Amino acid sequence: MTDQYAVIGNPIAHSKSPLIHAAFAREVGHDISYNRMLVPINQFRAALDEFRSKGARGANVTLPFKFEAFKYATQLTDRAKASGAVNVLRFNELGDGQSGAEVLGDNTDGIGLTRDITQNLGMALKGARILLIGAGGAAYGVAGALLDESPTSLTITNRTYVKAQALAATLSSKYPGSNALAISTDELADQPFDIIINATSASMTEPSGNEVPLVPATCFGKASLAYEMMYGKGQTAFLQIAAQSGARTADGVGMLVEQAAEAFFVWRGVKVKTAPLISSLKQG
Ligand code: NDP
Repeated sequence: MTDQYAVIGNPIAHSKSPLIHAAFAREVGHDISYNRMLVPINQFRAALDEFRSKGARGANVTLPFKFEAFKYATQLTDRAKASGAVNVLRFNELGDGQSGAEVLGDNTDGIGLTRDITQNLGMALKGARILLIGAGGAAYGVAGALLDESPTSLTITNRTYVKAQALAATLSSKYPGSNALAISTDELADQPFDIIINATSASMTEPSGNEVPLVPATCFGKASLAYEMMYGKGQTAFLQIAAQSGARTADGVGMLVEQAAEAFFVWRGVKVKTAPLISSLKQG
C-alpha cells in the first residue's frame, strides 16, 4: 500500500514540498504519496486526527501551525524540544498495524538552514554576527541550530518586539553562555551584521516588493549574506536592499530542500541527494 504524507499549512498552495518529496521517493524507489493540505486556522488538530485515521504515515507542518504541531506530538526529538516548534510529524505504527499510538515531533528547519548556509553557500556561521528577523515558528526552529554553530552573537528582532524578547530569553535559558539577545527594529540602524536572515512571512504578502524594508541598509556590510527564508518570490524588498548594499543574497530554496531531505530521512530512514534538486529549483 502507498504510504501517505502531506504538508499542512495555511496558506499552502505555494508549497514545493510535494514536488521535492516525489523526487526523493523516485530517487530511492519508495512508493509514497505526498499532497498539500490546506487547513482552516482553528482546525489543525481535527484535520491531523482525520489524516491519521486514514493510515497516513507522517506530515510536514508549515505556518502558522508549528507551535500547535509541537503540542500535538506525543514524543519530541531533542532538536524539537530545543526549538519549541515542530515541522515534521511521524506517525508511528502500533504493533497490530494500526497507525496512531505515538506521534513523533521533530524539527528539521534548523539543520536545513545551517546546511544550506555552511555546505551549499560555503559561508561560516562560526564567529559570525547573525541577525535573525522574526520570532515565529521558523525563527524558533532555526535559532538553536544557529547557536550550535558558535556564532559571535545571535541578535533577534521582530515587528512585535515582546516576541523577540521571549525568543531571546528562551535561548538564553536553553543555551547558557550563548550570546542571544533581542533588539527593537528602531535600534538596528547602526549595527553591522555578517549574516542577516529574514525569518518573517512579510515577503509572502508584500504586493510589489516595495514594502517598508525590514532592516536599514546600514546593517549590511560588504561581506554580508542576506538570507530570505521565503522562496519563489524573486527579489523581495529584503533581498533588493541587501543587494544594493553589496551583500550576497540567497533565498530559502536550499533550506527547503535540505530540511525536506532530513524529514525524508526521519520518515524513511534513507539519505537522499539534495544538490541536483536545489539546482533545478533555482533555475525555476
Ligand atoms: P509565523 O506565522 O509563525 O511567523 C511569522 C513571522 O513573520 C512573525 O515573526 C511575524 O511578526 C512576522 N511578520 C509577518 N508579517 C510581517 C510584516 N509585514 N512585517 C514584519 N514582520 C512580519 O511563520 P513562520 O515563522 O512559520 O514562517 C516565516 C517564513 O519563513 C515564511 O515566509 C515561510 O515560508 C518561511 N519558511 C521557509 C522555510 C524554508 O525551508 N525555506 C522553512 C520554514 C519557514 P509578528 O510576531 O509581529 O506577527
